[in-house]
Amino acid sequence: MKLWVKIFLLNVLLVLCLGILVGLAIRNMVFVTLRDELGRQGISIAGNFADRIAVSTLLEDRYDVEEAARELTVTEKDIEYIFVTNQDGRLFFHTFPNGHPPDLLAWNPVSQVPGPSVRLLTTEKGLLWDVGVRIFEGMIPEVHIGISEEHLARRLTQLRLIVIAIMAVVTMIGCALSYGVSRHVTKPLATLVQFTKTLSRGEFGQQVRVHARDEVGELAVTFNTLSVNLRDNREKTEETYRQLLQTEKLTALGRLAAGLAHEIRNPLTSIKALFQAFRNDPRLTKEDIEVVLVAVNQMDELVGKFLGFARSDNFHSTDLYLNPLLKQVLSLVQFQLRKQEIEPVLDLTKLPPVKGDRAMIRQALLNLVMNAAEAMPSGGQLTLVSRVIDDEMVEIAVRDSGAGIPEKIRDKVFDPFFTTKPEGTGLGLGIVYNIAQLHNGSVSFASTATGTTFFLRLPLQS
Ligand code: ADP
Ligand code: MG
Repeated sequence: MKLWVKIFLLNVLLVLCLGILVGLAIRNMVFVTLRDELGRQGISIAGNFADRIAVSTLLEDRYDVEEAARELTVTEKDIEYIFVTNQDGRLFFHTFPNGHPPDLLAWNPVSQVPGPSVRLLTTEKGLLWDVGVRIFEGMIPEVHIGISEEHLARRLTQLRLIVIAIMAVVTMIGCALSYGVSRHVTKPLATLVQFTKTLSRGEFGQQVRVHARDEVGELAVTFNTLSVNLRDNREKTEETYRQLLQTEKLTALGRLAAGLAHEIRNPLTSIKALFQAFRNDPRLTKEDIEVVLVAVNQMDELVGKFLGFARSDNFHSTDLYLNPLLKQVLSLVQFQLRKQEIEPVLDLTKLPPVKGDRAMIRQALLNLVMNAAEAMPSGGQLTLVSRVIDDEMVEIAVRDSGAGIPEKIRDKVFDPFFTTKPEGTGLGLGIVYNIAQLHNGSVSFASTATGTTFFLRLPLQS
């Protein structure tokens, strides 16, 4: 549940509880006040009436008392009955139309103490207030007036409606205010939450706009600082990384240049020596020419390798049968294998032709096989496996029983110029990677301490 909904519901609950409590309190207060008022009114009416009929009572002038009672009931609508007792304490006058109740005099006898007596009676007509006063102080005659609470009940019903209406309005206003407040309080928080999502997406440097001068505002300022710091740090890291990469590249280039120089120097030295000799004795033998040719070939091959790595525009796609190609590659290195006492094993499955550049694929396979051979300086087993992966891919695996690729250089072996061999150029696997990419294929490896397998995957239709 969202925070603002929680705050809102809590506030609504509070407003409702408060409203009900306040409503009940008001109702009770008004009820008590009204009853008091009713009692006081009753006493004053009864008093006035007693004064009015005092003489008539003494004279037992029933007619006049009746007249006075009629006048009173006309003006005071809530009067239910009137009765008067005479000097003997017996009923002298009453307004009950169908005879008076038998225990009438016992309802609310006025005590000997001076002052009126007010009592609440429960009758079949509902609650009645009987107000009794003595007509002459210290004498027996009494006047009793019965006042119904109907008026009071009507007022109370009215009052209840008003209180309910007020409560409804107050509750509604409370709810609206609470909604506004909870939204107002949680909106900056929601903005902040949104902002943290932006940050977590890595969009550093952005700023959040929260104009609150409270904890949320402070939080926003902190977040903004954090955002800027994160951006600066990232920029610094990237800059450092760029510099590192640059250094790495330069180092690699240096190493390549050294490698190339080293490779070229040997054939160059033999050519130079030959030509120096040629200056003294201008006769060239056939062997001399052969030496020059071998040296020039060596250099040409080296340059060709380098160019092969750098350029990929001479791509000639044909239907290639990989199994014969594997055999061809193996025959190219057979002398080397024999010299190192490496046993070649072929594990070939019938393959459909793949679309690819023959020279490139042969180069890639040769590089993998050469690496495998170089990984087994004191002999071992070289296995070439071909298999169909699915309708779209075939795979060549080149497995050796060498010492494996150490864990910490595994992510570097495909980097151009990366080598662990004193005579290595570090271009072999880089070239394989390039060729695999050009054919929409892939190259990967698995390595343990007992050997390494390189997998070259090629699509049937590139
Ligand atoms: P180079 O052979 O000139 O060193 P490569 O790109 O062919 O360059 O190989 C890079 C490095 O990967 C090698 O120096 C070697 O450390 C490692 N490597 C490649 N193939 C194997 C293998 N079959 N077994 C062990 N290490 C290997
Ligand atoms: Mg190599």
